[in-house]
Amino acid sequence: MRNLSVTSFLAHAVIGIALGLVILSALNISPANPVVYSITILLLVIGALIPDIDHEQSFATRVALLLATVLVMYVLSKQLEELSKLLFDNIIMQTIGVILAFIILNHVVNKFYRAVKPVHRGFIHSYSAAVIFTIAVYTLTANAYATLLLVLGYISHLWADGLFFKVT
Ligand SMILES: [Zn+2]
Repeated sequence: MRNLSVTSFLAHAVIGIALGLVILSALNISPANPVVYSITILLLVIGALIPDIDHEQSFATRVALLLATVLVMYVLSKQLEELSKLLFDNIIMQTIGVILAFIILNHVVNKFYRAVKPVHRGFIHSYSAAVIFTIAVYTLTANAYATLLLVLGYISHLWADGLFFKVT
């Protein structure tokens, strides 16, 4: 199953980039410089991977769970710092404490994800979800170009899943 998810990760990334670049050239939009070009490719890839967030073994899910754990650590950083100072009296033990906290919180985040996870290729793999995704991204970023790229990636994923159903 591991191979399958790596293959589909690459397939979705490549299809996302291809579709994105074709649409951009059709719209007569060309990235201004190498930095914008790199960001363009990156956003297309991120968009193309997001729908598989409903699949436990996918690359997108693994990255998202890791980021969610980092976010929880960040939110709780004050409390964790107090706790580690209370429990451990030297910097090495405090560092080990931080690593242990990360492992425990990652476990909790994983458990939470499994409890609320939507069905694979359910709602998140629908064009209605793509519309909600578009509104959400534009509301959060207020950037039309970034929204366009993420949405093109997202739609390329749905399109690819429809064409090659074996791609997870
Ligand atoms: Zn998919």
